[in-house]
Amino acid sequence: MDSTNSMGNAVELYFVRTLDGKAAAGVRRPKGIAIVSETGGRTIAHEVLHDCGLEDIYIADDQGNPLLELVAEQSIPADWGGGYYNPWVLQHGLIKRLIMRSFLTSQEDVGTDLPSGDVRGWHHGPGGGGTSLILGPAKVGQSSIIRTPGSY
Ligand SMILES: [Zn+2]
Repeated sequence: MDSTNSMGNAVELYFVRTLDGKAAAGVRRPKGIAIVSETGGRTIAHEVLHDCGLEDIYIADDQGNPLLELVAEQSIPADWGGGYYNPWVLQHGLIKRLIMRSFLTSQEDVGTDLPSGDVRGWHHGPGGGGTSLILGPAKVGQSSIIRTPGSY
């Protein structure tokens, strides 16, 4: 779809064969979102949620070291259910379930959960992609949706 006269109130989606030498499934830019055609609806949702203000979260740091701490209230304060998560669940396992989970290397199993609030994990922070990963609360939940998606 190419809605060239959207004037910011519609999302432009471009379905392509490959992106970045097959390294990416989707990418968001101010003028629209490019999606590899063979990827599923999860990629479309992930990229549209970026457009709404959410950021990527990673299960591991730049060196691939996974976040091996146990899930705790301070890691998911807005979604803590007081025992909903099994006591042996690790934070990287929880992050794998999130729709904003991203990848430093190849595609693995992907999640679809959209939490209510921030989740502790590796993320780029205010500088966005291209900056080093930092560990802390990542804006991956409904509380960080700050705008309706659009193309400009
Ligand atoms: Zn992403």
